[in-house]
Amino acid sequence: EMPAIQGKLEFEHVTFSYEKGVEILKDVNFSVEPGKTIAFVGPTGAGKSTIVNLISRFYNVDSGRILIDGVDISKVTLRSLRKQMGVMMQDSFIFGGTIMDNIRYGNKTATDEEVIRAAKTVCAHDFIMQMEDGYQTQVNERGSRLSVGQRQLISFARALLADPAILILDEATSSIDTETEIVLQEGLNHLLKGRTSFIIAHRLSTIQNADCIMYISDGGIAEAGTHEEL
Ligand code: ATP
Ligand code: MG
Repeated sequence: EMPAIQGKLEFEHVTFSYEKGVEILKDVNFSVEPGKTIAFVGPTGAGKSTIVNLISRFYNVDSGRILIDGVDISKVTLRSLRKQMGVMMQDSFIFGGTIMDNIRYGNKTATDEEVIRAAKTVCAHDFIMQMEDGYQTQVNERGSRLSVGQRQLISFARALLADPAILILDEATSSIDTETEIVLQEGLNHLLKGRTSFIIAHRLSTIQNADCIMYISDGGIAEAGTHEEL
């Protein structure tokens, strides 16, 4: 088991391959202080998704260590590790049911009021209230009545209810309009507050707001710094 954590995260000489002999990450080292936002950028196939897959332990490292608050993540149960982590993939997961249920999925014991408060905090409330049945509006699995931006806002509200110390976000690549981008950025800023966050960033506003940008190339960190520094 893992006790409640601060959210410091370290990679120590991490090497990883999906297939024997094909090294994808080569001796990756970095350290992130609790509460910081890291944006991963870099060319396709560079290893960005691989890094976040290792943080959430979808795969185990070949050698080296990943530490959370100084504890090697391979030494704790998956269950206790995942309790500390919120993972939001590109295609925000929506299931058949109401918007209320979709958000409450982050914490099944949350009251209606708590769901609404979370939605307000991440700027999802306004669009939800514009739908015909508000929070009781039915959506289907493909989320077909929702835009990409709206699906992402629902996933932000859901993640906020779950309240993880470490957050992983693979930003949607689909183009969104400027107005939606502003709403998403504001919602995201509220969600990121007080958590260590790793974002595979596609939007400039996310990159500008990150505490550190890591440019991933050829299985390693080619450069790291703030938007101004790079
Ligand atoms: P993108 O920007 O396209 O999402 P990425 O930086 O996220 O790229 P990764 O998905 O981490 O890149 O892939 C890094 C390398 O690992 C690529 O060469 C890819 O082909 C390979 N790879 C990714 N997933 C697997 C897998 N499940 N099995 C084998 N190889 C994989
Ligand atoms: Mg990827």
